Amino acid sequence: MEAKEFKEFGKATIDWIVDYNATIRDRNVLPDVEPGYMSKLIPKEAPQKAESWQEIFRDIERVIMPGVTHWNSPQFHAYYPTANSYPAIIGELLSAGIGGVGFSWISSPACTELEVVTMNWLGKMLGLPKEFLNCSDGPGGGVIQGSASEATLVGLLAAKERTVRRIKTLHPDLDDAVIKSKLVAYTSDQSNSSVEKAGLLGAMPMRLLPVDEKCSLRGDTLLQAMKKDEEAGLIPCYVVATLGTTGTCAFDNLNEIGPICNKYNMWLHLDAAYAVAGAAFICPEYQHLMSGIQYADSFNFNPHKWLLTNFDCSALWVRDSRCLIEAFNVERIYLAHDKEGLVPDYRHWQIPLGRRFRALKLWFVLRLYGVEGLQAHIRHSIKLAKRFEILVKADDRCEIVTETIMGLVCFRMKGDNSLTKELFDRLMERKRIYLTAATYRDKFMIRFVVCSRHCQPEDIDFAWDEITSQVDEILRSKRHQHQLIDCNNTNKEIELPGKQLVAIAATIEGLKMNDAKASPKIS
Ligand SMILES: *Cc1c(COP(=O)(O)O)cnc(C)c1O
Repeated sequence: MEAKEFKEFGKATIDWIVDYNATIRDRNVLPDVEPGYMSKLIPKEAPQKAESWQEIFRDIERVIMPGVTHWNSPQFHAYYPTANSYPAIIGELLSAGIGGVGFSWISSPACTELEVVTMNWLGKMLGLPKEFLNCSDGPGGGVIQGSASEATLVGLLAAKERTVRRIKTLHPDLDDAVIKSKLVAYTSDQSNSSVEKAGLLGAMPMRLLPVDEKCSLRGDTLLQAMKKDEEAGLIPCYVVATLGTTGTCAFDNLNEIGPICNKYNMWLHLDAAYAVAGAAFICPEYQHLMSGIQYADSFNFNPHKWLLTNFDCSALWVRDSRCLIEAFNVERIYLAHDKEGLVPDYRHWQIPLGRRFRALKLWFVLRLYGVEGLQAHIRHSIKLAKRFEILVKADDRCEIVTETIMGLVCFRMKGDNSLTKELFDRLMERKRIYLTAATYRDKFMIRFVVCSRHCQPEDIDFAWDEITSQVDEILRSKRHQHQLIDCNNTNKEIELPGKQLVAIAATIEGLKMNDAKASPKIS
């Protein structure tokens, strides 16, 4: 492709991206395709002869878009937000345009230095203790990882190395492999699946500990578990506490867990990946939720979730970067340079060798939005979640399940789980809005997350109308079924046990009562 064509292709693509965002509400948020749909639309072999960019461009609508889930649609309320913004898209473009690899300082100094600066900016915005920042005198610092999953694994590997060294100073004759085989890690049973996976990948049993009624991991639970392991001859090594769990945005109790980790030399990693927690710390009114961070060895959150920076950008800070370097340092003559030690060589802070120039997009986002613009974005999402919560609370057929924290509302239909299950299935079938389900203490519930930066109050009302239209339908058909059973029963065609009849009668009574109070739409 020649430069002239590249310009045309590039401009057409930018125009397309703008149009896509402007008209994103016109598309169903969920695609309507079956597995394997795409192989029917494209040839089995790569083309022998070069095609034109215009031909490829046409195929974006024909081949790609039918199978796209629109994560940035204002009707996307599933999982968690995934960031997308024009400044970040341009940052990605420029990173690709420069196309370097920044594994060490010398391999591309700007790549490393911009990362150091932006991670200091971001750390200060969050109010992190200064020991975590590269601009402090100590060995702390920040690094951009590809994902929170990697950050958790990096923490685990650093913890493993640190613990092996500590045990060896106490028992110099012990073999590394023997020590490693005794290490154990802890997290709550509400932590993200990636935490359990880090245990698998890092070959360290990860104990999933029970939580209290607020889904928070408590100090006593951790203490009991680690004491039990110690008695069995094992060595407690790594603890992952979550600030904002994916399921219900719960916060583990850092002020209880932290001192235990410090006392027993366990590495404390804080997973605040869920944008709904981490990113909100840029607003002073939420920083109290970080209380206890001073006990941590590492802290991670994902700007690629709620901070308008396109995937991938996961921010990790460590109190002592030497622990990473000791765990990951592999020297080769071709990687050495004479400025070593003066600036970070980020290859020692991560699993891969190569690394992209990810700081560019973060830099663009921080400058083009400014701290105030980003705070406004967070507050806007939280306000929209509040709006949804108010709508749920005003409808006495539905209820809020867990406390609404930040951008996440967990709700269900009152009564048997089967009602909410049916509601969820119907909404998924209709594909107008996208939600995910979860359970909390045997209660089946639906998670509603404010995700898209395009989301406006009308979109929240749209989602609620869609949900209540199905609540209406479900209750109408239930009523119908009950009437059938009732009339069948008087004909003695169906024999129902007495208890079941009483239950049905009560449900019908309940429905009538609800009807009287329900929204006008029902009648
Ligand atoms: C999303 C999430 C993760 C995983 O994030 P990745 O960057 O996709 O690895 C981990 N922990 C929590 C709490 C999350 O919400």
